[in-house]
Amino acid sequence: MSSTDHDAPVLVLNAGSSSLKYQVLVPETARVLAGGTVERIGEDGSGVEDHAAGMRRVTAELGDAGVDLGRTGLRAVGHRVVHGGPDFSDPVVVDDAVVRDIRDLVPLAPLHNPGALEGIEAARATFDVPQVAVFDTAFFASLPPEAATYAIPREVSAEHRLRRYGFHGTSHRYVSRAVADLLGRPLESFTQVVLHLGNGCSASAVDGGVAVDTSMGLTPLQGLVMGTRSGDVDPAVFTFLHEQAQMSVAEIDTMLNKRSGLKGLAGVNDFREVLARADGGDQDARLALDVYVHRLRHYIGAYAAVLGGLDVLTFTAGVGENSAPLRARVVETLGRLGLAVDPERNEAPSREARVISPDGSAVTVTVVPTNEELEIARQTVALLDRSA
Ligand code: AMP
Repeated sequence: MSSTDHDAPVLVLNAGSSSLKYQVLVPETARVLAGGTVERIGEDGSGVEDHAAGMRRVTAELGDAGVDLGRTGLRAVGHRVVHGGPDFSDPVVVDDAVVRDIRDLVPLAPLHNPGALEGIEAARATFDVPQVAVFDTAFFASLPPEAATYAIPREVSAEHRLRRYGFHGTSHRYVSRAVADLLGRPLESFTQVVLHLGNGCSASAVDGGVAVDTSMGLTPLQGLVMGTRSGDVDPAVFTFLHEQAQMSVAEIDTMLNKRSGLKGLAGVNDFREVLARADGGDQDARLALDVYVHRLRHYIGAYAAVLGGLDVLTFTAGVGENSAPLRARVVETLGRLGLAVDPERNEAPSREARVISPDGSAVTVTVVPTNEELEIARQTVALLDRSA
């Protein structure tokens, strides 16, 4: 089966340390044949002892959904890999050397790359089709040195591969291109800020389709306020809490990643719940929202300056796509930067990509549903077609 057989599907896998999210789809038409998540891999009593068993569960679930991968002629497997390090700036066909290289990046992404590797190994053992790794950091390989470089001694950065890598790149890439389609404008012709607001949150500055800045850094902890992650804090928080509160580095790391953000401020990490509590008068939830919105405005302004002017602001992911009140609040005080939303457009219930600013606004504000699986499937077949 050739990668140019345009009816044949691609299996997209997003493997975590204890989960295996999958979707079978046809990249050219975006038709989804099936999808799901195998959870609690490796946990006692789950019946799924490892990723190989997880993969057997995937094929069984696909069978139950009426998808016979043998008969549909699976074209390829596309793997989401969180960290591509300094060298992977494009998707690659997986072979033993690539597996070694991804393993070599585990110190940079100890929570994410091991799961991806397990998923890759299990899929290679199961499906005799080309496997492609698509990296979440790749879209940000284009960051100029002034945006990617931390102002710490050069030899330390070089030895430990420390830089701003950025994450959610597959989403930022997909969404920034979809905006060009939506507006009917060449991608090269405008600047934009993309706000990916889900459980994890990140902003990017994109100039003519090329990423020039992003809020996540060496790890996905930096930047915006997230569900459970703090985003930006003074890095001296580590020293302070270590010395003054006798917390270990691991405890501080867990606190900043798992007990901070909306959860740390409001007690809950689900954005809908924070909104509901704030509407009910809960002062903690109100402060959480204020901090969340303030940080967003901070990045929008900074990126407008980095880009030398902003043409388009785009909201995506769970919060960005669904919360009209949040979008209105973020934009409400940015009128002097040329931003506004039309209340009727903003509040219209729609699952489609759309413009929500009034006609004639200096900055076009859009809402674009992200689709990381489709982006991975497209990149997978594009690479295979190029190398055919
Ligand atoms: P994601 O990580 O993209 O799946 O986004 C998850 C986040 O989106 C959670 O914080 C949800 O509370 C939030 N979310 C989903 N639907 C809505 C909605 N209708 N209004 C506000 N937030 C939402």
